[in-house]
Amino acid sequence: MAFEEEQKIFNSFVKEKGLKQSKQRDDILLTFLKTEKHLTADELHSLVKKKNSSTGIATVYRTLKLLCECGLSSELRFGDRAVRYEHFYGHEHHDHLVCVKCGNFIEAVDPEIEKLQERLAKKVNFSLQGHKLLMYGVCSKCKK
Ligand SMILES: [Zn+2]
Ligand SMILES: [Zn+2]
Repeated sequence: MAFEEEQKIFNSFVKEKGLKQSKQRDDILLTFLKTEKHLTADELHSLVKKKNSSTGIATVYRTLKLLCECGLSSELRFGDRAVRYEHFYGHEHHDHLVCVKCGNFIEAVDPEIEKLQERLAKKVNFSLQGHKLLMYGVCSKCKK
């Protein structure tokens, strides 16, 4: 079955936290994993509700938090816009360019920028574990 690894990670994390496995959380996890997008909690909530209409938004928020904590998801924050969530586990590193007009995230990576960040960390004697680079501006569609 697909997402077996992700489910294993999540289930053992949930167990470690002393929480019981729940059908609702499992549905949220699967729906999240099936969607290759930068989702808000609201968007995920309406997708999950198609499967299980009794799932509340609070459960979605709590589950997303768990997903971030166990390394399956990563959150994207920009200004006062709704936080978006994307897959993290098993996905190659990438940075984001966000459009201040439409809110779209563009994914990109530049090896030189990556290297420069490592160099900067080294310069200040910092052990780098990761980074989130977010650039903001106006996308090509909104420029027209
Ligand atoms: Zn990067
Ligand atoms: Zn992304």
